[in-house]
Amino acid sequence: MPKKKTRSLRCPTCRTLVLRSNESFPFCSDRCRLIDLGKWASGGYIISTPITDPEQLENIPEEQDRKRAEEDPSRNKQ
Ligand SMILES: [Zn+2]
Repeated sequence: MPKKKTRSLRCPTCRTLVLRSNESFPFCSDRCRLIDLGKWASGGYIISTPITDPEQLENIPEEQDRKRAEEDPSRNKQ
């Protein structure tokens, strides 16, 4: 029984058949590799994590501080 070696895989980004000889394997091209990396970076693959944007995490406490400053207790004394 001859051993069947996988000589190709489908590009995770666009599902194009990619040969192992391709220098961008398992992606069909550098572009698809970057798109896939971008998906990871933006949390596209991590669906169960609600907050994936680090900027949002940073902005939340900042906004709370701003609100606290607006609600200055010394102003509300009277
Ligand atoms: Zn591709």
